[in-house]
Amino acid sequence: MEKLNLLIKGGKVFTDRKFTEANIAVKDGKIHSITDLEAPLPPADRTIDARGMHVLPGLIDTHVHMREPGFTHKEDITSATQAAAAGGVTLAVDMPNVKPSTNSYERTVEHKALAATKAVVDFNHWIGPPADLTEVDKIIAEGVIGIKVFMMNDTKRSYPHMPELGILSYGHLYEIFQACAGSNAVCAVHPHNQELFEWIENRYFWDKGLTKPEDYAHALRYGDSIVYDTAFAALFILARSAKVKLNVLHLNTYLGTLMAEWYYKDGVDLSCEMNPPHFFITMEDVKKRGPYVLGSWTPPKDQEALWKVVQRESLPFPAFWGTDHAPHHIDEKEIGWEDMWKAHGGAPYVQDYLSLFLNAASQGRITLERIVELGCEIPAKRFGFYPRKGVIQVGSDADFVIVDLNKERTITKEQNYSRAGYNPFEGWKVKGVPIHTIVRGTVVMEDEKVVGKPGFGQFIPVER
Ligand SMILES: [Zn+2]
Repeated sequence: MEKLNLLIKGGKVFTDRKFTEANIAVKDGKIHSITDLEAPLPPADRTIDARGMHVLPGLIDTHVHMREPGFTHKEDITSATQAAAAGGVTLAVDMPNVKPSTNSYERTVEHKALAATKAVVDFNHWIGPPADLTEVDKIIAEGVIGIKVFMMNDTKRSYPHMPELGILSYGHLYEIFQACAGSNAVCAVHPHNQELFEWIENRYFWDKGLTKPEDYAHALRYGDSIVYDTAFAALFILARSAKVKLNVLHLNTYLGTLMAEWYYKDGVDLSCEMNPPHFFITMEDVKKRGPYVLGSWTPPKDQEALWKVVQRESLPFPAFWGTDHAPHHIDEKEIGWEDMWKAHGGAPYVQDYLSLFLNAASQGRITLERIVELGCEIPAKRFGFYPRKGVIQVGSDADFVIVDLNKERTITKEQNYSRAGYNPFEGWKVKGVPIHTIVRGTVVMEDEKVVGKPGFGQFIPVER
């Protein structure tokens, strides 16, 4: 009998769209066979006993700020991908707001080479719009996921929304959409209405001396989230005209979900990323944890709309989770208690989001099947990684996260693999824990400890 590299025995495996008790055999990094428990097993170098546990495809997180090069006091490619491995993520896609920014063909090639020496899990990259838009073709030919646009600049800080990356004119945005459409590239956009937000923050907040964390949260959501909703509307209308593949980031409003459904039905080639904290963070958390949950507050009506999207029998449009894992140094946060506009926005999320949703599944708020859909299948299909990634079937990469649905843990910053010295969910108790993570047949997390080596992760090119 031929020798295998790895056997995963007796777990409840998500295959053919349902969970079945099965053994998985892995050879040369690929799934070699999936067999019932009675079938004879060939010898293997290594066996994992998964009895009593569930085996899911490895998660795909297309929104991870790895901060390298330029901001390694916040995070680096190794620490970010260790946190990913700890969270069951086997493919992580980073963002271009590093220094120098990843926003040209030359930088794309350099950045791929850098990540290949450091990543613990597989990876890909979003690239900022190049100054010379004729470069988009060449950039996309490198196999990267697409072009990322920020519709915003920061007003009292210069990071994370750097002046060199902000696209503040609809004309410029439309031209980028046309270039992406011409190259068959997905364009991902952080929605924001800069002019309106500056009006709101000056007139209704700063002029009145309102600069605390809750003020910032309310300013972003002023007037029933008009800063977001006017941006969503503009994006859908421009994308419809330019016929671009649009990936809306941070979908987080009631009206946004209605617009996405309407434009999707109308034929716009869109997908929507939803950020895990938007499902969970409340105003109580903002008051208690201030700068550490900055920007993540979603008013109850909007939060309910997000849960409704994922709880519908079939999704009304392609929606999935991207964490927006966005770590910073603690000093860059503490300043926010006085003036939130000066604190850097974002928090580490990639390590804990699976646990949060497994916990929600234990409370009957979401099914495990939907977790696989939003965490694995939909991003794999949308961005051209399927069926190599995002699914457990013969021939696919042997990427798994093995979870214990009955295990409980308390989330603390001490468990962070991220370099951020804080955790937005500090002290939260969750039921459902990722135990082992496997990338192409190699165990990168074992018994909740990351054992993967920097440089093991590979660049996974998009199939177009
Ligand atoms: Zn982001």
